[in-house]
Amino acid sequence: MIKVRFAPSPTGYLHIGGARTALFNWMYARSQGGQFVLRIEDTDQERSKPEYEKEILDSMTWLGLAWDEFYKQSERFSLYQQHAEKLVSEGKAYRDGNAVLLTVAKARDIKFDDLIRGLIVFNTDEIKDQVLMKSDGSPAYSFSCVVDDALMGITHVIRGEDHISNTPKQILIYEAMGFKVPKFAHLPLIMGTDGARLSKRFGAVAVTDYRAEGFVPEALVNYLMLLGWSPGNQEILPLKKACEKFSIKKVNKTAAQFNMEKLKWTNGEYIKVKDTSELTDLLVPFLKEVGYINDDYDRQWLLNVVGLFKSRMLTLRDFLERAGFLFVKDFSIPEDIRASELKTDLFKEFNMLADRLNALESFDHVSTENVFRGLVAELGMTAADLVHPVRVAITASPVGPGLFETMVALGKEKTVFRLREAFKK
Ligand code: GLU
Repeated sequence: MIKVRFAPSPTGYLHIGGARTALFNWMYARSQGGQFVLRIEDTDQERSKPEYEKEILDSMTWLGLAWDEFYKQSERFSLYQQHAEKLVSEGKAYRDGNAVLLTVAKARDIKFDDLIRGLIVFNTDEIKDQVLMKSDGSPAYSFSCVVDDALMGITHVIRGEDHISNTPKQILIYEAMGFKVPKFAHLPLIMGTDGARLSKRFGAVAVTDYRAEGFVPEALVNYLMLLGWSPGNQEILPLKKACEKFSIKKVNKTAAQFNMEKLKWTNGEYIKVKDTSELTDLLVPFLKEVGYINDDYDRQWLLNVVGLFKSRMLTLRDFLERAGFLFVKDFSIPEDIRASELKTDLFKEFNMLADRLNALESFDHVSTENVFRGLVAELGMTAADLVHPVRVAITASPVGPGLFETMVALGKEKTVFRLREAFKK
């Protein structure tokens, strides 16, 4: 049976590159009816932090990448010790103080057939004797990694290209221990738009940052799977469908470029088709965070508002900006928007409209539209002449959902007040 693993070190947050590695492992396991292991490589006790581990697990769960088995290397130190001792007793490794090193014979070619990159050859002349156990009693990365991959029955090691040079060293350890060498697949790096390796400099790299920005996990997963793999001409491909098509051999050799615009577009596509009630649940924490709503918000009203905006946002956070005019206590129109969008003085017209809207018994789409169209006809204007300035006056934005739906969502009192305030002398 196929068995793969994702083996993050909890020395930092789960970043975009790590998430992509986890995802490709997960997709490979699911596409092959195999198993997916999550292994926390916390052998560096100085740099490993419980909060990073927690964050990695949370991010994996949030992304929907469930694991079949879970291990922590810090709980397996005695196992590594035993295997190191065995190698010493067999004469394949030796002690240097408290450390244990593997003897590496010179002038040998170590070859492996990478599933993505093809044949890779290293010569052992370039490889020093390998530290297996450090003098502080902790295992070196390559040793604990190989012991675990072998004991856990990992058949395919899928990881970042930065580990290619570790692979021949690890193969030597497999051989010394008499373990079967797994297949390797090294994923291309992810570059920023500037062509440099994705890093903090680029902006958000942690999965949590994307979550806080208002990306939905299905969209982030959809975007990440296309970083280095293409299912053909398909930009929107839910994870389940992707697993049916996924093939490790079709992963690109060349670096993938991270494109924020495309990620945002993908996110918008997923938001658009989300169930309104579910989307509302996702937006509530964002709205609470900025104080737009509290626990006793009007659910029915909010569902309606979310429905109006769901095709107009790329991230959940966009909603705060686009629909903010419906929530803010101190509404005002920024000077630049006033200067460009409210050039003509419509003091008289706005006040007439405000009076008539104010007189309405029922403030709904039909009644507000009738009042509006009636007034426009009386004044000898076209609807278009007034729609735009009215929208700007009540929303502080030149774009948004239909004007009458917007008025109804805003409510009579605020609509009337903002119309009266717009050109107030
Ligand atoms: N802990 C290593 C890392 O985070 C794992 C590398 C591997 O997959 O072998 O880079």
